[in-house]
Amino acid sequence: MTGRPIPPGGWPCFHCGEVFTTVETAREHFGFDLFAEPGCVAKLLPEESNTLAQLRAAQSDVERLRTANEQMDYEVCATERAAGIA
Ligand SMILES: [Zn+2]
Repeated sequence: MTGRPIPPGGWPCFHCGEVFTTVETAREHFGFDLFAEPGCVAKLLPEESNTLAQLRAAQSDVERLRTANEQMDYEVCATERAAGIA
């Protein structure tokens, strides 16, 4: 959803009918990829009501760290090429 314009009327959930009009609320409900389970479908016990937000925060951290790791890999390869190691 990042980088794409918000569609007119927002992003509707076909499971629960709720409409999300910000990237943040849509990401929390739908997850970070096409294979994530929407929050309304996830089976949560009442005492786990904060679990979805924690899961989405952890997924956000993973995505941020994955991007940073890819950048570091790129920099290592560029340095090795420049040094004639690779
Ligand atoms: Zn839903």
